[in-house]
Amino acid sequence: MQCPKCKQYMKAIVYEGIEVNRCTNCYGLWFDSFEQEDLKKLSGAEVIDIADVDIGRKQNLKTEIRCPVDHVEMIQETDRQQAHIQFERCPECQGVYFDSGEFRDYKNFTIGEFFRYYFRKGD
Ligand SMILES: [Zn+2]
Ligand SMILES: [Zn+2]
Repeated sequence: MQCPKCKQYMKAIVYEGIEVNRCTNCYGLWFDSFEQEDLKKLSGAEVIDIADVDIGRKQNLKTEIRCPVDHVEMIQETDRQQAHIQFERCPECQGVYFDSGEFRDYKNFTIGEFFRYYFRKGD
């Protein structure tokens, strides 16, 4: 698979039976449909994200990208629980792309603010 942001090779990595692709150059992560939600629940899964925040921040500015699977234009989305996290989703296959450091941030929510968020929602 080719990285939708920097066009370099994305290597398949497996965590607890879930396969994700990580760019060998910019460390962006590609998740097939909803895999990121499965991985969010698995403790320790943040190790798949090398989290080079400087690279991630630069890559986050590239928003016009095409899905590496079906080549349609991806849509930029904001995580509804953590508004500072922006990722790209493919409207066709529902795959998502996280820049380096974003998945770690996305996942940390579960541990940190999870309860606060759900309590607030229940008010
Ligand atoms: Zn890349
Ligand atoms: Zn797609």
